Amino acid sequence: PELAHDLKASVRTIVDYPKPGILFRDITTLLGDARSFRRAVDELVQPWAGLKIDKVAGMEARGFIIGGAVAHQLSAGFVPIRKKGKLPHTTVRIAYSLEYGIDEMEVHADAIKPGERVILVDDLIATGGTAEGAVKLMRQIGAEVMAACFIIDLPDLGGAAKLRAMNVPVRTLMTFD
Ligand code: IMP
Repeated sequence: PELAHDLKASVRTIVDYPKPGILFRDITTLLGDARSFRRAVDELVQPWAGLKIDKVAGMEARGFIIGGAVAHQLSAGFVPIRKKGKLPHTTVRIAYSLEYGIDEMEVHADAIKPGERVILVDDLIATGGTAEGAVKLMRQIGAEVMAACFIIDLPDLGGAAKLRAMNVPVRTLMTFD
């Protein structure tokens, strides 16, 4: 609990960003604090330490930062899931729902070998639209999605429950109402 509290205190809240009425949870302050960044990564990987994870997939853009560190810690490869049009080789693309409207994300078709064990990483899960799209995308290219992990969960928005309903174990380090 003390650890969770420390970490939580390193997240900054920005009022009315990006729109009036929104409380934006800003993890740049957590990333910028050496102890907090290490703690967050150590805590995220803890259930999989010593297990065989082939790849960590991170969602653009904050999922790249955390996912890269998680991949290193697990001695796994890293796979970027990007907004459409950014990856140079053959891709698989999926539409996903945002708070308002839809967007598309993609991954290299050969990023995963069928049956590889993958963990998904992002900074925060809200409605789960982004993570749901990422799970479907990874499964489409043959990944076995072992888990999804996030520093922050906004449980009222239902994203973690949505992923668990897709048979994806979810790990988060703190919640905000
Ligand atoms: P979801 O698809 O509704 O679960 O939204 C999660 C995505 O939006 C993640 O990629 C987050 O990085 C981003 N996001 C939503 N709200 C916040 C926030 O308060 N802080 C940081 N990122 C956020």
